[in-house]
Amino acid sequence: MSLLKRIMILCAFILAIVGFGSVSAANTQITAFNWGVNKENTLRLVFDITQLTRAKAELTSSMLKVTVNGKLKPDIQRRYAVNSSKVKSISLLAQGDKTVLILPLKQTLKSSEYKLFVLKKNPGAKRPDRVVLDIFNGGVSADTPNKRAGTHICVVPTYSVTGGIKGKHITLDPGHGGTDPGTHGLITGVTEKEITLPVSLKLRAILEKKGAIVSMTRTTDRDVWGPEATDVQELQARVDVAEKNKADLFISVHCNASVNTDIGGFSTYYNPKTSYDESVAENIQESLLKTASLNDLGVREANFYVNKRCSMPGALVELLFLTNAREEKLLRSNWFQNKMAQAIADGIEDFYKKNGGVS
Ligand SMILES: [Zn+2]
Repeated sequence: MSLLKRIMILCAFILAIVGFGSVSAANTQITAFNWGVNKENTLRLVFDITQLTRAKAELTSSMLKVTVNGKLKPDIQRRYAVNSSKVKSISLLAQGDKTVLILPLKQTLKSSEYKLFVLKKNPGAKRPDRVVLDIFNGGVSADTPNKRAGTHICVVPTYSVTGGIKGKHITLDPGHGGTDPGTHGLITGVTEKEITLPVSLKLRAILEKKGAIVSMTRTTDRDVWGPEATDVQELQARVDVAEKNKADLFISVHCNASVNTDIGGFSTYYNPKTSYDESVAENIQESLLKTASLNDLGVREANFYVNKRCSMPGALVELLFLTNAREEKLLRSNWFQNKMAQAIADGIEDFYKKNGGVS
């Protein structure tokens, strides 16, 4: 637990320095830009992109601006005349590795009158990954325009929570490793890193059987950034693995510790940075509690670095207490490690089932 406290303190510190949004745009290209008006009178603007990337919309009373983290191909036309009740014109600006779409407005737009989203590639239909902006022109003319001043910002996520566990990209993070052993058992001296790695490897195998595509921050006993890393570098290196793999879910596996050797049980932590993190944690915790008669220390909100800095939903699981004699024995047992891995995997599958998918 001591490292987790350290992580929480660090988190506040880091956010102040680094700010938000670190997904690299350097490798993403915008290969085409198309727009049109459909039968429902929706103005749809589409960026074809070489890989999933982030995009951000900013709405003011006179303009809707969309920034896509991708480099604009030079031969794409920059200005378009448009016959729309909402938009005066369409302009594209290349700004280094980013592309900015500027839409001056004829009338004030409400945040509910547009939608920015990502469509994942569809090889069958020969469609690439796309960033899409819809502006709903029809059926809203009777509404009173929103006169409130100020900027509305929406950021497009690149993760998916629908369609079941099959094909989901899941990054697993076995806590600690290498020069950082984590906490340790009081009876045998077994270290946290010696538990989190085998449980995570077992978890990977079960998730892959369920059809998920699993990446790991480490698969051996090592530091992820390196032995000389600061705590922040080490934790950010774990976040980077998830971002690089375009993960839909990030799960960090730890064991707990307390000065009170009677304390034991499961707890699962989340940071509510998306509307799914709490549900991920709840489903995992619920499933872990079915493994044996062990304490339920609950689903808890926290500011752990890895949970907060990953752009996709996730949870940090605290598997029992190494400082509790009975639980140390369970944590070391191959049989119970399998049970816990199965429980986490089932919890993840439950989460996807509840979010509209079938597995
Ligand atoms: Zn830990």
